[in-house]
Amino acid sequence: MRIDILTLFPEILEGPLRVSLLGKAIEQGILTVALTNIRDFATDRHRTVDDEPYGGGAGMVMKCAPLFAAVESLSDCNSLDRVILLSPRGRRLDQAIVRDLAATPDLVLICGRYEGFDERAAQALATDEISIGDYVLSGGELPALVLVEALSRMLPGVVGDFESVETDSFYDGLLGPPQYTRPPVFRGMETPEVLRNGNHAAIRRWRRKEALRATRARRPDLLVNLTKEDQRLLDEI
Ligand code: SAM
Repeated sequence: MRIDILTLFPEILEGPLRVSLLGKAIEQGILTVALTNIRDFATDRHRTVDDEPYGGGAGMVMKCAPLFAAVESLSDCNSLDRVILLSPRGRRLDQAIVRDLAATPDLVLICGRYEGFDERAAQALATDEISIGDYVLSGGELPALVLVEALSRMLPGVVGDFESVETDSFYDGLLGPPQYTRPPVFRGMETPEVLRNGNHAAIRRWRRKEALRATRARRPDLLVNLTKEDQRLLDEI
């Protein structure tokens, strides 16, 4: 998969793209992430990428021309089928969106700054607008990293044991079950016996039940499309 990220601050992204699972995925060529500095596409002497908002008001707005030129410059290496603005006004990111985007061969992510984008970029340049949550950051670089890291976990070979992705929260719609590691007793708190007895069917059942328990307590809105077995487990809780 190839992801082109357009930003005014590539240095925010460079470090995180070099380390851990993301760094390895890029090193192994499972994922290509290319950074483009939007300022390189400003044509005036001062390399201006923003201007005052029409109608007045605080802050500056990102101009159309450098954004359009930066995206168009990628047409040789990116299909430009999915051009995504990171924006608090976008659809809120969830695992279903991550899954959908991970199935596409290439993406363009555009990071805003200042008061955000001229609306014509949303109308005529972007195919999607995505928000990472109902709060406002100063730029789209961290949201872009959130999206890239979530996408990378869906790509075969990035997380060594894909089963660990399959048991993550949201993978099958529920929150994940609680987890424990050694020692079996810590400050008087015990690890559930079932996890230590090697009975894999019992462990699977316990995990599903605990995932249902946590989801019902914390995110009941996620309890949809339950199987009969899920319903039975919920009734037992
Ligand atoms: N004036 C904009 C508004 O009210 O919607 C906020 C602009 S914000 C200060 C600057 C940039 O940060 C945005 O253009 C966007 O790229 C990014 N950003 C901020 N919060 C975000 C969020 N929750 N999700 C995605 N991007 C966000």
